[in-house]
Amino acid sequence: MPTEIKILITHQEIERGMAKLARAIRHDYLNKNPLLIGILKGSFIFMADLVREIAMPLEVDFIRLASYGVGTESSGRIKVLSRLNGPVEGRHVLVVEDIIDTGLTTAYFIKYLKRKRPASVRLCALTEKPSRRKTAVKIDYLGFTVPDKFIVGYGIDWNEKYRNLPDICYIE
Ligand code: 5GP
Repeated sequence: MPTEIKILITHQEIERGMAKLARAIRHDYLNKNPLLIGILKGSFIFMADLVREIAMPLEVDFIRLASYGVGTESSGRIKVLSRLNGPVEGRHVLVVEDIIDTGLTTAYFIKYLKRKRPASVRLCALTEKPSRRKTAVKIDYLGFTVPDKFIVGYGIDWNEKYRNLPDICYIE
């Protein structure tokens, strides 16, 4: 059981960061009807806020991935648990992630997507922990860099709890 939950990034700071991200995405994807693919479950709140802030024609899909990690660390062996709703071929795809830690999950998923021949693939991440990277992942749109702590809140869980905290927090 976590001893204490501490706020790292307040909801107000998230909103400010989100506005910046949305501006950049809107600029780059104008008239391209991008397909935003969120990785469940952690990205669901970020996605909901992001698409409303982007406020232009786009489509949304979600996918569930499972990592065969030991404990809290992913191993890089990832299984795709759900299918995408529509075709990816020829689409401008923007992958939406909650947190990039080792980078293994995202690297795997981007490789998987590229086999489906999209027109382009970019990555938008709410947070990243650069100190733990194990594979090179290019983050095209980044919200916040976070320290090597266990993050919860704003969609991100600890044992399915704390997803509904409005702020990005960490467990002490
Ligand atoms: P990666 O493959 O980059 O190591 O792992 C990415 C996934 O690991 C994230 O989508 C998230 O589900 C999980 N993860 C990594 N760091 C944290 C963290 O600090 N807190 C939580 N709750 N999940 C994390």
